[in-house]
Amino acid sequence: MNKRTFIKLCSAGVANPVVSPLLAWASGGKLTNWAGNLEYSTQQMHSAQSLEDVRKFVREHSKLKVLGTRHCFNDIADTSREFLSLKSQDRVIALDPKALTVTVEAGMTYGQLCPYLHEKGLALHNLASLPHISIAGACTTATHGSGDKNGNLSSVVSALEMVTASGEVLQLSRKEDGETFHGAVVGLGALGVITKVTLDIQPSYMMQQYVYENLPLKQLTEHFDAIEASGYSVSLFTDWQKERINELWIKSRMDSAHRFEAKPIFFGATLATKNLHGQRAAVGVLRSSPARHRCNSRRGKIA
Ligand SMILES: Cc1cc2nc3c(=O)[nH]c(=O)nc-3n(C[C@H](O)[C@H](O)[C@H](O)COP(=O)(O)OP(=O)(O)OC[C@H]3O[C@@H](n4cnc5c(N)ncnc54)[C@H](O)[C@@H]3O)c2cc1C
Repeated sequence: MNKRTFIKLCSAGVANPVVSPLLAWASGGKLTNWAGNLEYSTQQMHSAQSLEDVRKFVREHSKLKVLGTRHCFNDIADTSREFLSLKSQDRVIALDPKALTVTVEAGMTYGQLCPYLHEKGLALHNLASLPHISIAGACTTATHGSGDKNGNLSSVVSALEMVTASGEVLQLSRKEDGETFHGAVVGLGALGVITKVTLDIQPSYMMQQYVYENLPLKQLTEHFDAIEASGYSVSLFTDWQKERINELWIKSRMDSAHRFEAKPIFFGATLATKNLHGQRAAVGVLRSSPARHRCNSRRGKIA
């Protein structure tokens, strides 16, 4: 390929950045969810590159569903009509370090936002197990993180912008709209197209993690609250064999007065002596702070 053709192809890609990511979602020519266990009932996928695009699309279509990053296992996001994707709208719109809020476009993922915040010494309070889910999709479905004192991901949403069925732009905030706002945050995609989300943030923090192996199931059922309360965030992984939890991950904030003090045995589980990788089905799923995790050979590694 000569230089001229190469430059031409590259600029075509830049001019239409949404096409290839959307095509990449089709498996064997069919549009499926991320896990591939659900084939959607339509292949009609449209992308909106701006708020005006969203408004126009909504006005022109009587039925549609927004597709986020396709991580729902069930058919909540499915439709036999039209899909609208905001995937290419993935910028940070505003960061207010004084008010400790960040406003992002609906297509942004946690994997994009967290490094951005971390660079600025800021962080979120909680995360789900995956970095590549969209913030809007995760919040509107009340995706949970971990830690018995941490709210789920929607709990830090402080404002929303959405396009309603009439194509109007609706701004809602915790401060101004009280119960109406609270009723709209977890809308399961039914109330409108979320175009922007504002989240509460906090100064960044470091995490320390200890990993235990082979927690007896009996210990977990008898001491569930104590085990869950042992860290800022606690995760359990099992392959459902031998009546035991394969891995227990206890994560503490290093700025906390109540850091987990690791003993060799914890409720019958054994402190890991080498780095482990969590590849098993999750019972209580991994949540990590956006801050870096300190790991060494005695402390298991974040997957
Ligand atoms: C491997 C894996 C790990 C997971 N881990 C966790 C976990 O730790 N904790 C947990 O609670 N859940 C977890 N989930 C579930 C996941 O967080 C949710 O399914 C979440 O909805 C994913 O967001 P999404 O953008 O991919 O949503 P999608 O599947 O794309 O859509 C879900 C719903 O949100 C709506 N929606 C998405 N974006 C918008 C928007 N901009 N405006 C309006 N509606 C919108 C859709 O219409 C649909 O109804 C996991 C899923 C997978 C596959």
